[in-house]
Amino acid sequence: MGADYITDISLYLVNGHLKRGLSPGKLKVVKRTGAVIAEVTALTPGKQNVTNLKCWNVIDGNDCPGHISAMLTDVPCNIRWSCTDCDNAGLVLNWRRSPWDLSDSYRSGRRHFAGVCELILSEAEYRLLLSRNDMDMDSRILVKGAQPVENNYIMYGASEDLENIAAWVLEQFYHETDSVTIWIWNTIYMKINVGLRVIEPQV
Ligand SMILES: [Zn+2]
Repeated sequence: MGADYITDISLYLVNGHLKRGLSPGKLKVVKRTGAVIAEVTALTPGKQNVTNLKCWNVIDGNDCPGHISAMLTDVPCNIRWSCTDCDNAGLVLNWRRSPWDLSDSYRSGRRHFAGVCELILSEAEYRLLLSRNDMDMDSRILVKGAQPVENNYIMYGASEDLENIAAWVLEQFYHETDSVTIWIWNTIYMKINVGLRVIEPQV
């Protein structure tokens, strides 16, 4: 299998957050690579998995019909991915502990989040979530129930419900073309994925 694109995702991050001022081309690489990392780290390691992620190649003016197939290896800590239909392929380095890492070793540190959590959103973040009506019903109810506090909105929810929203936000991040809105999706995603605060632990 070839590795046409080698992406060291750590080069795009500072302290686990996206670097500011990345060019549109680099943002595109981050979006695609982040989506590959999130898809494959949620699946079984050491095994080739065909993900739900559609290939982004355009061949003779048509979108490639293939999906991204990927395998995660721990030693060395790499993700190798390729398209099921075309020769689009690559290698991702240093994905561990990136914002899109959903692997167990990362999640195990987050189990203490089980329970009711609060998510504090800025007005811009909240307005963006509220403006989208393609969320599932449960998530929309959570969003609509947010409480305005000073200049923020606070959402309360079970950690798994908020994680559902995070998965949906990651999709939006991946498909967003507006460079300002990409930042807002990214911040919401980061707040849920690494910044949830438990207010009522599960007993
Ligand atoms: Zn393809």
